[in-house]
Amino acid sequence: MPAEELPEVVRLARDLIRIDTTNYGGGRANGEREAARYVGAFLEGLGLEPEYYEPVERRTNVMARVEGADPSKPALVLHGHLDVVPAVAADWSVDPFAGEIRDGLLWGRGAVDMKDMDAMILASVADLIRSGEKPARDLILVFFSDEENGGVEGSARVVKERPEWFRGATEAISEVGGYSIPVGDKSAYLLQVGEKALMWITLRARGRAGHGSRVHPDNAITRLARAVEKIGSATWPVELTDTTRALLDGMTGVCGSDSDDPDEIARLAGPAEAFLASTWRTTANPTGLTAGYKHNVIPDAASATLDVRVLPGTEERVLAELSELVGDDVEIEIFHRDIGLEAPFEGALVEAMVGALGAHDPGVPVLPYLLGAGTDNKALSTIGITGYGFAPLQLPRDLDFTGMFHGVDERVPTAALEFGQKVLTDLIRTY
Ligand SMILES: [Zn+2]
Repeated sequence: MPAEELPEVVRLARDLIRIDTTNYGGGRANGEREAARYVGAFLEGLGLEPEYYEPVERRTNVMARVEGADPSKPALVLHGHLDVVPAVAADWSVDPFAGEIRDGLLWGRGAVDMKDMDAMILASVADLIRSGEKPARDLILVFFSDEENGGVEGSARVVKERPEWFRGATEAISEVGGYSIPVGDKSAYLLQVGEKALMWITLRARGRAGHGSRVHPDNAITRLARAVEKIGSATWPVELTDTTRALLDGMTGVCGSDSDDPDEIARLAGPAEAFLASTWRTTANPTGLTAGYKHNVIPDAASATLDVRVLPGTEERVLAELSELVGDDVEIEIFHRDIGLEAPFEGALVEAMVGALGAHDPGVPVLPYLLGAGTDNKALSTIGITGYGFAPLQLPRDLDFTGMFHGVDERVPTAALEFGQKVLTDLIRTY
């Protein structure tokens, strides 16, 4: 299909995928400048006045404000990130940065996380402005850099150094929520109202260096391996919060299940099972090992990295449990940590999001959930903005959508993008 015949939301998402904004983490990244300029040019075309903030060369954030019909209402932030995680082309069925459209789906890195939503935000605002309408309240459109590295040069920095961008805002919507999942032979939409807390931990074992040929019990690698094995094979109990309790009740209600075992109920969600199962328990995954420098030398230290995600408010207790698991002879160092969030599944914005989905997919319930990972909403929460995950997509039941975040062959149905744009347009027109 020639570009001019593509629906605008699809063309925007495709164009953004074609700008390779790979973020390798730890400050290594291609940079978001071209993507931010692309977004800025589109916003200028709508008569808006985008502002840029580039705290580090090429790490560009962009914001534009849209005046609402009632400026006395608090402003709503619509935000997305412009960076993507790396893609190894050899693992993919398509070129991850070609933005190919095949079998009704748009393929490429960012199709799911989250150039889809970036495009939906832009196209929805364009829809409204071109029809001569105003959103119900002021909108603050923000496209961040560096989300995939914890927002260091993006949201975390922008809220500190450009707080005026968020003047009058109390609420925000963004990624990882608003999409449909199977529930038994029915469906439901997930609305993200909270995010687990994050702790990136380094385990370090020490020992005595020596020759690899000797009897040598004081071996740092052996000591570390024992601790890593214990953490990697630990099972963590189910701990429900208001959000996950409401989700489970909703899921059993939708399909008439009488199970009260959360993990069994998660199975009703088909490909989203593992995604949900991580939302009501701690996860602590070993993600890296570093030790040694020569085959016949015993090193005096060994270290491992852990990615630990815990329910909001349980951080200190889990840290104590981890240190018990690894024992006294392995050190625990927190390399990076981030707060958890949980907002009630109620209020005018929640009702408006539920209503907008209901208008376009009547009868399909919307259920709250707690994201096992994190988004830029964490940074916004530090300046008093309550954020939700609401990137509405009506998806085929067999598409493993949650598995494609950071996965291979990211793809999104073009019809889902058009659906999401309509839902978002309704939301900003009325809320
Ligand atoms: Zn994302």
